[in-house]
Amino acid sequence: MARIVDIIERTIQVSSSMRNADIGFDEMTATALVVVSDVMRQGKPVVGLAFDSIGRYAHGFLVNERMGPRLLSADPSLYACADGPGIDPLRAWSVMMRNEKAGGHGERAGAVGLLDAALWDLQAKLLDQPLWKMLCDRFPGASQPDRVTVYASGGHYQAGEAPQRLRDELCAYQDLGYHHFKIKAGGASGGIDQTRIEAALSALTAGQTLAVDFNAGLQSQTADAAIEGLAGYGLAWIEEPVDPLDYRLLAQLRARHPMPMSTGENLFSLADVRNLLRHGGLDSTRDFINVDISLSYGIPEYLRILDLAAQAGWARRAFVPHAGHLFALHVVGGLGLGGHETAPSHPLLGGFPAGSTLADGMLCLPDAPGVGFEAHAGLCKVFEPMLRP
Ligand SMILES: [Mg+2]
Repeated sequence: MARIVDIIERTIQVSSSMRNADIGFDEMTATALVVVSDVMRQGKPVVGLAFDSIGRYAHGFLVNERMGPRLLSADPSLYACADGPGIDPLRAWSVMMRNEKAGGHGERAGAVGLLDAALWDLQAKLLDQPLWKMLCDRFPGASQPDRVTVYASGGHYQAGEAPQRLRDELCAYQDLGYHHFKIKAGGASGGIDQTRIEAALSALTAGQTLAVDFNAGLQSQTADAAIEGLAGYGLAWIEEPVDPLDYRLLAQLRARHPMPMSTGENLFSLADVRNLLRHGGLDSTRDFINVDISLSYGIPEYLRILDLAAQAGWARRAFVPHAGHLFALHVVGGLGLGGHETAPSHPLLGGFPAGSTLADGMLCLPDAPGVGFEAHAGLCKVFEPMLRP
């Protein structure tokens, strides 16, 4: 029976000069996490690693003060795997959520999701399997769990930029093997967004697609005109046009505009997604849901969300999680979701673990055990000092 004996947490600065329609990233932080087990291999403890999804700051306080101590003080029998070696992250989730009231999802959901991600990495290593394979074995349904459609997310607003810069950015992603792209919208006025979109579209070749992300930047008075202005571009989807909790406005926009829409990255619970499905007016045949796995209590809650959505007619292909980086990549493959968002130009998060291959917009995942942070050029440097004895 494996025991969790230590949790190491660091706040990492991930600031940059980028902007979207809602926020700047000049103060952005994220949490790097190491969960240490008492299982020893080659003289070292087997550990689980996790790195925050970007955009909502670090979660160290809640990890250190609440959820982490619950795991460390729990009897290992409470989170032991029932039918094999190691731990069961679904059972550990209940340990972390002990005495937590319903509702009020927010930073708590991100702290639990971070610990949950580290526990899945740990258990995959204990079973000597890549996480995508472990998930596919436990929750069957993915037809090609080792192959994931990935898209390049970028096109942030940068001071003084010319439209040519955006075209060059997408061309660089094409050179990496991407076929699908997303850029920011809603953060400029006077037709600048249309100019940016046209510059991005000018880089695309046959079969390639472009989506735009409003990052909740449109208001009820402006949303109709802004979306109508994009009607002729054949965009893959319009993402998060308005406030993530304004379901009525979203439903009104959904009814007025035919292009696919996508939202959910700022909903952190099953309860919030239930309201989105009830009141947001989304169409399971053309729209997408972007709930961020790490920011919304991790895989246990995400499985409940998938089940709820399935009852309403939503296929797993309609789920394209927000960010989440390497962890989400494995979940998308293992659970057979619709695609994975990447940030290829991010100096820390860009790229994939060694052994991955990207071609024609599809990523072939490696067979190394766990998630693969140790084999990622940027993130391995974050974890290396945390793993020193
Ligand atoms: Mg988004």
